[in-house]
Amino acid sequence: MQATRFLKQFVNSSGNVRNYASGVQKVTLIPGDGIGPEISAAVQKIFQVAKVPIEWESVDVTPVRNPDGRFGIPQAAIDSVNRNKVGLKGPLMTPIGKGHRSLNLALRKEFDLYANVRPCRSLEGYKTLYDDVDVVTIRENTEGEYSGIEHEIVEGVVQSIKLITQEASARVAEYAFQYAKDNHRSKVTVVHKANIMRMSDGLFLRCCRETADKYPEIKFEEKYLDTVCLNMVQDPRQYDVLVMPNLYGDILSDMCAGLVGGLGLTPSGNIGLGGALFESVHGTAPDIAGKDLANPTALLLSAVMMLRHMEMKDKAESIQKACFETIKDAKYLTGDLGGKAKCSEFTNAICERL
Ligand code: NAD
Repeated sequence: MQATRFLKQFVNSSGNVRNYASGVQKVTLIPGDGIGPEISAAVQKIFQVAKVPIEWESVDVTPVRNPDGRFGIPQAAIDSVNRNKVGLKGPLMTPIGKGHRSLNLALRKEFDLYANVRPCRSLEGYKTLYDDVDVVTIRENTEGEYSGIEHEIVEGVVQSIKLITQEASARVAEYAFQYAKDNHRSKVTVVHKANIMRMSDGLFLRCCRETADKYPEIKFEEKYLDTVCLNMVQDPRQYDVLVMPNLYGDILSDMCAGLVGGLGLTPSGNIGLGGALFESVHGTAPDIAGKDLANPTALLLSAVMMLRHMEMKDKAESIQKACFETIKDAKYLTGDLGGKAKCSEFTNAICERL
């Protein structure tokens, strides 16, 4: 349980990492591929106009060949996150089925980013099926089916191992309850399939129950994944904070994003022991890359989450307000939101409200 002890030292009562020096703080920026550089530039411009006291340290994460012949994240990028403890990341292209493994996965592993946090909230002025969705999914980010333990037993038969540990389950459960407490949320729902995966999900569930006992002020409920999916499309308002193993979180969080307008609007944070990386949920959008058509909202709201994590709540509030008002005003909406504005025009409209 060494990691858990370290976690207690590293994470303060608000669940945020607080070892930043006063004054201007450095933040690692991974602009990413495809539309990544355009939307990163938009965020940098908005932060500059809002006079956010941070300095960006831009790093390239294009994989390099290590002495052992394998491809990995360049050391300079690893050093930057280790130094700054916080970073903003644009989308990265993932090769399918061959070449180096997903860089997103490599970053998660490198910095032990154990909790993926995705707030999904309806935006005023942008019409979706429900207009008052406000849920937060917290996904265990390091194990489950994504542990990468796969092998062929005999030709035509492959096995993929779902790994669940008490340590990883307990720390994500702790993060979820602490998040709920810090953000004045009233309920945490654990999403599981312990009726089928008796041992693995059973362990995850037990860890959540034990953590719930330490937070009597927060309501705790247990729901099967299939029930949550059904409820979520019928009436998402019954949910608040949800915590779950990796694969369920991957799927359910996209479903929640769909309820509030899609991936172009959804931010996320990956919280770890070695630092925290905030990123938009969408991919590199190769079809619109380089055309000044991308919506920077998801990356901007991820950067707003980052500011809250860094305890710059006033700056976070003013930027979020400017962004929401620009969307509500609907004069400068990007194509994905049904408008005709360029990324740069939408960005300027936000800047004018700051
Ligand atoms: P995608 O999210 O890049 O694009 C899906 C659709 O949504 C496209 O039509 C795109 O134009 C649109 N879209 C996405 N983001 C947008 C934005 N900000 N503004 C306007 N429109 C937007 O998904 P994909 O095409 O399946 O994936 C492309 C690449 O991105 C793949 O290599 C994939 O592996 C990678 N990817 C990376 C991440 C990440 O880095 N976190 C996440 C998902 C996908």
